[in-house]
Amino acid sequence: MSKKKFKTEVNQLLHLIIHSLYSHPEIFLRELISNASDALDTLKYLTLTDDSFKNIEFDPRIDVTFGDEEQRIVTLSQTDKKKKVITVADNGIGMNEADLEKNLGTIARSGTRDFLKSLTGDAKKDSNLIGQFGVGFYSSFMVAERVEVVSKKAGEEQAFKWISDGKGNFDIEEGVRSRNGTTVTLYLTESGEEFANHFTIEAIVKKYSNHISFPIFLNYYEEKTEGAKTVKEKKERQVNAASAMWKLPKSELKEEDYNDFYRSITHDTEDPLHSIHTQAEGKIEYTTLFFIPKKAPIDLYWADYQPGVKLYIKRVFITDDEKELLPRYLRFIRGVIDSEDLPLNISREMLQKNSILTKIRNDSVKKILSEVASLKKDREQYNSFYEEFGRPLKEGVYQDLNNQETLLELLQFKSTKSEGYTSFSEYKERMKKDQKVIYYITGENEKTLRSSPLLEAWQKRDIEVLIMDDDIDEIVIPAVGKYKEIELKSLNRSDALDDMKSQADKEQEKKIAPLVKRIKEILKDEVKDVRASTRLSDSPSCIVADEKDPTIQLQHILKSMGQMEVPEVKPILEINPSHKIVKKLEKTEDKALFEDIARLLFEQALLMEGVQPKDTPSFVQRLNRTLERSL
Ligand code: ADP
Repeated sequence: MSKKKFKTEVNQLLHLIIHSLYSHPEIFLRELISNASDALDTLKYLTLTDDSFKNIEFDPRIDVTFGDEEQRIVTLSQTDKKKKVITVADNGIGMNEADLEKNLGTIARSGTRDFLKSLTGDAKKDSNLIGQFGVGFYSSFMVAERVEVVSKKAGEEQAFKWISDGKGNFDIEEGVRSRNGTTVTLYLTESGEEFANHFTIEAIVKKYSNHISFPIFLNYYEEKTEGAKTVKEKKERQVNAASAMWKLPKSELKEEDYNDFYRSITHDTEDPLHSIHTQAEGKIEYTTLFFIPKKAPIDLYWADYQPGVKLYIKRVFITDDEKELLPRYLRFIRGVIDSEDLPLNISREMLQKNSILTKIRNDSVKKILSEVASLKKDREQYNSFYEEFGRPLKEGVYQDLNNQETLLELLQFKSTKSEGYTSFSEYKERMKKDQKVIYYITGENEKTLRSSPLLEAWQKRDIEVLIMDDDIDEIVIPAVGKYKEIELKSLNRSDALDDMKSQADKEQEKKIAPLVKRIKEILKDEVKDVRASTRLSDSPSCIVADEKDPTIQLQHILKSMGQMEVPEVKPILEINPSHKIVKKLEKTEDKALFEDIARLLFEQALLMEGVQPKDTPSFVQRLNRTLERSL
């Protein structure tokens, strides 16, 4: 026997599972059945494509058995207490010693590892998060105090047994199993015992695993009276539908079937928001069944996100690890693609350039986007969808030029003129007769943006401005440039107002030129330019970016994305010639006071953009000097 330690992250995960109030302990069964089903999928594929597996008998099934008083109760030597057990067995690919150690002793995904590392001590809060991506095999320890896995790999002679109490260590020893496959035995905790009856197990299987495509049998004993005696009779009953449900005619399927299937292929405990079932016939034959979840999965923004679409060929599972089945921005979609035309033994490299798959992918994207658009009929529903998945759609606007127009129609933003979200087309409807441009303002949060001095000129002219407070807007919207031939213009840019300037504005600019020059001399190291502004009415100053320069926010995003060398781009300071402070400043003879105020005009404009002045102590001193003088 060899005693082994779990990798640190497994311990962390186990700790979370066991010590946080996990909201759905019953999902342990789904996770085990899902692993069994994967093991059967793998073997099925090999028996069809690999000669060395051709002779293996393949009669796939999953057996769930639970402890009956007589039959299954075992005595654990270490606790000397009778325990109820549940076992989940499959005759799939199985695991050898090395597989057991690797698969049940570590966590493969670096994203999960990083996520665990980032967790704080608040296990209750974190357990909600962790529930979203499923904890796989380790969820057994939510209901069991000891787990044994006996497994024999297809094509190999020796079986092995993995044993652990989920407390840091596991053992692997030689085991006995007559044929290939895996049996997982859970020695239930007191609270776990509630699962050891056929009503509960059957209900859980139906809820989470009804459409697993292999038969799941429930094994149990029933008491029967024979004359004066009661005897126990072994019962075996298939409890799932075991169909490739996406292949069934749509007319036979109910919403409940779709919901059940969704839960069986995801870690979600909720129903999906929307399902999209397509059975294409003709030149290329395929079936797709896609789901839009209600909530974004936790790994949506991880570098090693797991795509949620499984590829089948003629109902044989091929892969769930192919990131190109749908474009990256649609990575929140779950479901299956099943093709009738691809060869079973197609290689991964071939998959990526296969023209049939490309066609399926293109059709699927169009279909999904049109279904997303249809969600708009119920605006509230669409808004909640958008809260979760608006950001990936924006990535799509940037990445998927073929569907950019469609995607633009799906975007929505806050606005100075309407409550809640508004779309480009709604903005267009409201545009003034002579208005030629769609205006928007970008920044870190809605509240500061709504009170930004940059808005003043537009408010004065009663022109609507879209409020873009998502950092990705800053990258996507300038890249798009236009909506239906209408230019998209950012208020954060120095030229935003050019087409609205009047003759009087220009004259005023000229008049104030000497003051501008004086301020510029003081701030010459910090700003790119100082200009007179016609956009301001209530504020004395504001910050803008030069036409081609990245805005302050974009510089921040680039920095936070780890872009190492973000060139320091200086902003432009605009001052308001008609503001009282500026007018009085023009007349000031006191050089020191002039400098203080010039700097304060710059610093307050920075603050309004959510940027800290570089030298905060000096800023405060300046402010205090000025306050003192005004008293
Ligand atoms: P996941 O299923 O998400 O990969 P798990 O923790 O549930 O994570 O399982 C880890 C790995 O252990 C699986 O990826 C698989 O390789 C292996 N495994 C688990 N259960 C079985 C089984 N019944 N038969 C064969 N391999 C299994």
